[in-house]
Amino acid sequence: QHLEPPSAAGRIIAIVNQKGGVGKTTTAINLGTALAARAQRVLIVDLDPQGNASTGLGIDPEARARTTYDVLCGATPMAAAIQSSGHERLDIAPATVDLSGVDVEMVDDPDRARRLRAALRAPEAAADLAAYDFVLIDCPPSLNLLTVNAMTAADSVMVPLQCEFFALEGLTQLLGTIRRVQRGLNPGLRIHGIVLTMFDRRNRLSAQVEEDVRATLGEVVYQTVIPRNVRLSEAPSHALPALVYDRDCAGSRAYRTLATEVLSRDGVTLAA
Ligand code: ADP
Ligand code: MG
Repeated sequence: QHLEPPSAAGRIIAIVNQKGGVGKTTTAINLGTALAARAQRVLIVDLDPQGNASTGLGIDPEARARTTYDVLCGATPMAAAIQSSGHERLDIAPATVDLSGVDVEMVDDPDRARRLRAALRAPEAAADLAAYDFVLIDCPPSLNLLTVNAMTAADSVMVPLQCEFFALEGLTQLLGTIRRVQRGLNPGLRIHGIVLTMFDRRNRLSAQVEEDVRATLGEVVYQTVIPRNVRLSEAPSHALPALVYDRDCAGSRAYRTLATEVLSRDGVTLAA
C-alpha cells in the first residue's frame, strides 16, 4: 500500500468496511459518545438499512418519522431528520429499512452518488450543520451506493478491522473503492485511520494479526486497539452507548483513548 502523510483534518468521517460484524456501528456509537464527552458536538448519520446505530441509541422505529432515506430522496433536509440521542452533544439522523431500496430507486439519476454530499454540504445545509464538530457516518456492510454516498460526502474514512485470521481480506477491494472515489467523486477524501477491533489478549492470533496489520499498513493504523469486551456487545440491548452503560469497562476506556487519538490526528492521504 502507498500511504502518504496527512495535511488537514476532516470533520465528516465515513465508518466503512464491507464486512459485517467488524465493529462499525459499535465504533460510531461509542467513538461518538467519547467525542461528545470531550466537548465535541457529534452527529451520527445512520446509513445502514438495518438501523443498528439508531436502535442502539434507543430511537424506536416508530420514532423515525424522518430518516436518512428521506434525506437521500431529497424529500427532507438533513436538519429535519436529526434527533437528539438523549445524550449531551450527541445527535442522530436515523435509518429504516427503506434505505435498502435506494440503489434501485436512484439508478437513473447521474448524481445519485452525490445525494448525501449535497445534503451535508450544500449552502442551505451549512447553517444547520455548522454546529457539529464531527459527523460520523455509519455505513452498511457493502460497497454499494450508500457507502459510495458516504465516501463522497466525507472528508475521511475510518476502517474498523476485526482482529481475526482474515482481517486483511477484502481490504484491497475497499482501498480500490476509496481510490475510485478519490479519482472521480471526491478528490479530497483521506483515510483517517484503521482501527483494530475485538482484540482478544488471551488469543495469540489477535497479537499476530495486530503485528501483521501494523507491518503491512504502518502509521495509518491507530495506536489504540479496541478489545473484545462483552460490555460493548451488551450495551445496545439496553439502548445505551457502552460509555453510558458501563463507563469504566475496558471497551469504554478504549473508545475514550481512540477519541483522544482521533482529536490529535489528521487524515492520511492514500496516493492514487
Ligand atoms: P458492524 O456495524 O460492522 O456490522 P457491529 O458494531 O454491529 O458491527 O458489531 C457486531 C457485533 O459485535 C455486535 O453484536 C456488537 O455488539 C459486537 N461487538 C462489536 N465490537 C465489539 C467488541 N469490541 N467486543 C465485543 N463485542 C463487540
Ligand atoms: Mg453496523
